Amino acid sequence: MSKVSKWIRPEIQALSAYHVPDSSDTIKLDAMENPYRWPDDLVEQWLDVIRDVELNRYPDPGAQVLKQHLRIAMDVPDESEILLGNGSDELIQMIMMAMSGNDTAGNTHSVLSVEPGFVMYKMIATFMGMPYIGIPLNDDFSLDETELLAAIKEHQPAVIFLAYPNNPTSNLFDEKTIRNIIAAAPGVVVVDEAYHAFAEKSFMPILKEYDNLLVMRTVSKMGLAGLRLGLLAGKAEWLNEFDKVRLPYNINILTQASAEFAIKNIDTLDKQTQQICVDRESLFNELSLIKNITPYSSQANFILVRVAEGQADRMFDNLKEQGVLIKNLNSAGGLLKDCLRVTVGTAEENKKFLELFKTEL
Ligand SMILES: *Cc1c(COP(=O)(O)O)cnc(C)c1O
Repeated sequence: MSKVSKWIRPEIQALSAYHVPDSSDTIKLDAMENPYRWPDDLVEQWLDVIRDVELNRYPDPGAQVLKQHLRIAMDVPDESEILLGNGSDELIQMIMMAMSGNDTAGNTHSVLSVEPGFVMYKMIATFMGMPYIGIPLNDDFSLDETELLAAIKEHQPAVIFLAYPNNPTSNLFDEKTIRNIIAAAPGVVVVDEAYHAFAEKSFMPILKEYDNLLVMRTVSKMGLAGLRLGLLAGKAEWLNEFDKVRLPYNINILTQASAEFAIKNIDTLDKQTQQICVDRESLFNELSLIKNITPYSSQANFILVRVAEGQADRMFDNLKEQGVLIKNLNSAGGLLKDCLRVTVGTAEENKKFLELFKTEL
């Protein structure tokens, strides 16, 4: 047996590394990025800010100024605490690092979410050695309340993750059902609002009604994916514990300065996300006119499309060959069989995608 296979945990050896396809020279509609850059004058102002950053110094470990800006921009209630992560992926990891382990009876703390859902919940649970329970959504991608409540009762999960809107299905789950889940949860419920900029609803205003609810946001999907910055809001009792597993200076000095600047100029980002919502509706309407496929109505910046049986792999490959990269979800199986996911790009990019997509039907 090699040293590697002897010492690396079997569940890690069984994983494949998170695959990010090469995307140079392609129209990139695979990763829910905002397709727009900033206007030139804003870039100049940002460079002036960056020029003064002291790269020789450690950043503010608590990112206090940035937190204050985010509190206002993201409508975090006054009585809620804020924890920042190097992307919300890092927050998911911090939560699980703090919560993994065994109870006094020897049961291993578990993680519960829905399938299809955001893949990092399951991946990070695996990294942390936490059992992961994935409850299938109904055929219309709604929550199966009966199954969820039964699973919560049976497994007593330490943490439940629900993306709102959900990735990759792009719908908002029923609020009443989520409230029932929060009430039934023995541990904490994280409502992941990564796509909040494109949705009309949020759990942020009702944070104070529950002592086991946490709301997570990120700046990635609203136009700052390169910065890596996520936010968790909730009761100080929880966040103070998660903060103990945070590595010092996890929000680097360039991210702090750039995010502060971006939030002072939030109007630019807001205009971009509003344009994306308008273009999402046009793209959805165009897709709805095509026979033999089903686009799903979206509350996010991407559209999930079910194509004719057995065609998804070929369509994905041919689009990629012609320079348009989307996401093929067919291999995930289950409710995602025959499904492709396309991020809403610029009007031009969407048009190019549609043209090629129609020729591949
Ligand atoms: C993209 C995404 C994230 C990760 O965001 P980062 O802040 O870029 O790490 C989290 N949750 C969901 C549901 C996402 O789709």
